[in-house]
Amino acid sequence: MSELRELYQSVILDHNRSPRNFGAVDDANRRAEGHNPLCGDRITVHLEVGDGDVIEDLGFQGSGCAISTASASMMTQAVKGKRVEDALALFEAFTGLVTSDPLEDPETDDVGKLAVFAGVREYPMRVKCATLAWHTLKSAMLESGETAKTE
Ligand code: ZN
Repeated sequence: MSELRELYQSVILDHNRSPRNFGAVDDANRRAEGHNPLCGDRITVHLEVGDGDVIEDLGFQGSGCAISTASASMMTQAVKGKRVEDALALFEAFTGLVTSDPLEDPETDDVGKLAVFAGVREYPMRVKCATLAWHTLKSAMLESGETAKTE
């Protein structure tokens, strides 16, 4: 696990320093806000969903800790170009991964580069930081109109 831990730390630093897809999206047609009161992380996710339910473009805004920012950044890269249905499946795989037992081998087959977030399992307080962007993405995709809360 130590290689994964080092990778986790360097990926978090990199994405926190230069978040990808940060900002609003001109042609966004779905939006949601999210809040993690435990840490103070706030995020808005903007989605442009086009023909065939494909996420053509997306971006995020907000302010939060390094883990919430890095997770949002990697989330946007992971779901861009995906169908909503497939992004929902990735939501399930990712939240399943980060909330799994840290003493067991992480289930990383379906999450690609997001596997580095298995490192967050050792810090239960941080799991909500890592999942905030994903819950907010889900609210936007489902157009629930609700603020995503991690509590
Ligand atoms: Zn946080």
